[in-house]
Amino acid sequence: MKGKIIIFSAPSGSGKSTIINFLMQQNLNLAFSISATSRPPRGTEQHGIEYFFLSPEEFRQRIDRGEFLEYEEVYKDRYYGTLKEQVEKQLEQGQNVVLDVDVKGGCNIKKYYGDRALSVFIQPPSVEALRQRLIGRGTDSPEVIEDRIARAEYELSFADKFDTVVVNDDLEKAQQEALRILKDFLNE
Ligand code: ADP
Ligand code: 5GP
Repeated sequence: MKGKIIIFSAPSGSGKSTIINFLMQQNLNLAFSISATSRPPRGTEQHGIEYFFLSPEEFRQRIDRGEFLEYEEVYKDRYYGTLKEQVEKQLEQGQNVVLDVDVKGGCNIKKYYGDRALSVFIQPPSVEALRQRLIGRGTDSPEVIEDRIARAEYELSFADKFDTVVVNDDLEKAQQEALRILKDFLNE
């Protein structure tokens, strides 16, 4: 039996990485699909752990070689893409693959995999909460934070295109809800 796909999307600062990290520690046979990006590492991020950090030229070469399942210019000059090889290898090994992608990428991957995939939208309580969380995370400059906030309204309008929405107000509650949703899907 090959694995399943779980897609997470949300505006930046919603708590998506925090919730994914929690889920990865549960016994669900999950493997994280490491994306490629042309943005620089932030905080403690390492090449090959959170992302494959590529120069814009390397990113373009990989596009030309057809190595991406999907890719998007999420912010100006900042490309992000899912590598076919990552996902296919993990699925072949019978692992359930977790993807952290932007809203457009999330919808495209769901369309591609259909019932084999579950798409989950992590919703913040408000745009102001996002701002506070991004400031509190302390990893982005004020300009980068404003770019992310500016995109948030657009991203929030995608929520109803997802299979399920988890509101991340109380983190503990959101983590438990996400865990239950994943268990249900993986047991189907
Ligand atoms: P994303 O991956 O969606 O960009 P993160 O997981 O990095 O977001 O979370 C952004 C910041 O908000 C982090 O500093 C995180 O610790 C914090 N955070 C996450 N969930 C909550 C919550 N429910 N309440 C308050 N802060 C939160
Ligand atoms: P961040 O810079 O905060 O790590 O990510 C910014 C946005 O890019 C997030 O919405 C994240 O989900 C998205 N993202 C990360 N990897 C990919 C990917 O492979 N494809 C797409 N389409 N979006 C991605």
